[in-house]
Amino acid sequence: MTLAVLTQADFDAWVIQARRFTLQGRLPDYIPQLAQVDSRLLAAQVLAETQTLAAGDVAQPFVLMSVIKPFLLLYLLEQVGAERVFQQVGMQPSDLPFHSIVQLKADHSRPRNPMINSGAIALTGLMPKASGSDRCAAFCKWLNDLAHTQIELDQNALNSVRSLPNETNRAIADLLVQSDLLDRSDLALDTYNQLCCLSGTIADLAQLGLLLAKPHPEISHLHQQTVSALMLTCGLYEVSGIFAVKVGLPMKSGVSGALLAIVPKQGVIACYSPAIDRIGNSVAGLFLVEKLAQELKLSVFC
Ligand code: GLN
Repeated sequence: MTLAVLTQADFDAWVIQARRFTLQGRLPDYIPQLAQVDSRLLAAQVLAETQTLAAGDVAQPFVLMSVIKPFLLLYLLEQVGAERVFQQVGMQPSDLPFHSIVQLKADHSRPRNPMINSGAIALTGLMPKASGSDRCAAFCKWLNDLAHTQIELDQNALNSVRSLPNETNRAIADLLVQSDLLDRSDLALDTYNQLCCLSGTIADLAQLGLLLAKPHPEISHLHQQTVSALMLTCGLYEVSGIFAVKVGLPMKSGVSGALLAIVPKQGVIACYSPAIDRIGNSVAGLFLVEKLAQELKLSVFC
């Protein structure tokens, strides 16, 4: 079966079922702006073939947080090539939380993969341009031009993130400087924070996903494959393996409650629901993607 057979009526019904799961999650309390949103929000969009299905709170903008990580990887694969990128980060899954520094210390070298904080922070060192703002603006323009989206920096969210001590990410950046993977930890952290605060609607997230799901005249197919494989193995942090079995699709989550699932060669499922589980994945979003994948037999392994 394919994503294209999904009807608006079934989609609406499953989104209503998913909304119950918002009660099972919690808002991340470590970023003040994210702690203040309505935890019952839920928006979802499916893009497949010529079909667009949308349901829920579709007008609600949200910050992408870690859902930006696969796109940072794609950008750098395109800008500087795979050889340079994978000198900076590995391709191995991690069974530790997204902000862990334990493996970084133990491995004395590259972060395990680009889907965790250490990997993305390390990758900022490869971005063209000298300041965090210029780097973020160039990256944002690249994405908007290619995906026909309108994502932009949410300055309030950035102020909120900047108000935090941010000790863990700072420690990660410092360790990366010690390993000669970064020149300046403050620049890396500022760039990373700005990237995480890029914001859009569910339609923007779905459009971004198409950059990975379908052939694109300006993006290498090999780079799409590389990013998708790393999403499947690492995109949901320490539960990536479990969801590779249960869902079988490349996915990426962010602590804002954004969740993107790629259905290779077919389309995308984008969700936003800010109540997250203890790993940092949207509870209602995961329910919805799992439901769609099982009902429509979307696993890449079927
Ligand atoms: N900015 C967030 C952080 O570094 C992103 C993490 C996430 O979305 N999982 O903590």
